[in-house]
Amino acid sequence: MTTSLTGTPKARKLWLAALGELQLQMTRPSFATWLKDTQGTAVSDSELVVGVPDTFVAEMLERRMHSLISETVARVNGRPIEVRYSVTADGETWTSNGRRPHPETGPPTPPDPDPARREPAAAPPSHRAIPLNARYNFDAFVVGKSNELAHAAALAVAERPGVLYNPLTIYSGVGLGKTHLLHAIGHRARSLGRSPTYVTTEEFTNEYIRAIREGRTEEFRDRYRSSDLLMLDDIQFLIGKEQTQEGFFHTFNSLHTANKQIVITSDRPVSSLGLLEDRIRSRLAGGLVADIQPPDLETRIAIILTKIEQSGRNIGPDIASFLAERIHTNIRELEGCFNRVLAYADLTRRQITRELVSNIIADSLTTAKRRAAPPETIVDAVADYFSLDTDAIRGPRGRKNVALARQVAMYIIKEETNLGPTAIGRALGGKDHSTVIKNCAKVADMLDSDPTLRRDVHNIREAIAGA
Ligand code: ADP
Ligand code: MG
Repeated sequence: MTTSLTGTPKARKLWLAALGELQLQMTRPSFATWLKDTQGTAVSDSELVVGVPDTFVAEMLERRMHSLISETVARVNGRPIEVRYSVTADGETWTSNGRRPHPETGPPTPPDPDPARREPAAAPPSHRAIPLNARYNFDAFVVGKSNELAHAAALAVAERPGVLYNPLTIYSGVGLGKTHLLHAIGHRARSLGRSPTYVTTEEFTNEYIRAIREGRTEEFRDRYRSSDLLMLDDIQFLIGKEQTQEGFFHTFNSLHTANKQIVITSDRPVSSLGLLEDRIRSRLAGGLVADIQPPDLETRIAIILTKIEQSGRNIGPDIASFLAERIHTNIRELEGCFNRVLAYADLTRRQITRELVSNIIADSLTTAKRRAAPPETIVDAVADYFSLDTDAIRGPRGRKNVALARQVAMYIIKEETNLGPTAIGRALGGKDHSTVIKNCAKVADMLDSDPTLRRDVHNIREAIAGA
């Protein structure tokens, strides 16, 4: 054995510096278990020898953490250098308590006989990356006022990951294009020779929990660390899952430190991801948060025109406007309705006319309305959203904001239920049916020119749907 317990000063210094960096990239228990009792024992131009307490640790470092360790040593050293682990003659003196160290969680993984899996970072298992949907690319994404910031930011990070906005968080209600943009980033990055990873937060969570159970958290981390760009969809799924938040936080940090791009989506504002750990929330807020609002009429028409083009059918633009004027909830619904129209036209071999579209919309609306929330729930949701008292909304008059809330409540009840104006008036404390008709028309008008109101109505309807 050429190594000594103390090691040459140069080897010691190099390894200590690497340890300093490694400590930032790993969980504390993992670092304590695998690296605390190691030392730089010898160094030459081409090789650093790291002394470890026993073969078990040597094997663990070699098999599970080697790529991270050699990258870190190369960085600290200023150029690549081989790292070799050597068990010191007097192994027991290395561990402070004389016991064999235990892995972070669960029993140690048995040696893996499959040589193809010896280098996890180089050959990540494919189940991790959910394949990208070919349809969700930048070309198929229609840009309008409601989504131009998110689109521009997505394009920027796809072309220059890790440079400008890191992390990028895209936030919107459901069905407004978050997942589409993430996949588009993935396609573009891939075409530029990078290796992006797209994963839903749900899948990320399942994988992390599995890794903990099987004592393979290092492998988990190694795999994520190997991608240039991590896209995590629907981060609100992390709420209430403390253990995964911890895993996410470390993955996030090691990628972020290495200037790897991170893109996250959320279906609610970052500030209201209340149950997410502060440290995660503040990391997200430290990057760029781009929101997508419900699309205006013009954008909805453009989206339907794109879908018509993709479908290869001969459908006039008047049909596009007709459909877009009637469906303003979200793009997924707009698409769904358009697809139903196509399917119906195919099955019945009928020409697509306004009447046909109108019947199909009416059909799907009635189906939806049969399951509608009662009007009281809607009034409550509106009151809640505007932080007003339900009684104020039902009351006779009120300040400007009360009047607006009342009009919005009327409009949403009309849209969501089968109730006529008289019944709606009754649900709002006995308003006249002509007042209801007038106010509903007014809100419908305002919605097309006022994105904030569009957002409000969208959020309230989502709250009702989720109630
Ligand atoms: P989210 O993830 O925000 O819930 P998705 O990305 O799943 O929404 O979008 C719902 C559907 O609407 C998808 O089929 C998507 O292709 C389509 N879509 C959303 N935004 C646009 C857009 N700007 N242009 C074209 N299609 C869009
Ligand atoms: Mg989505």
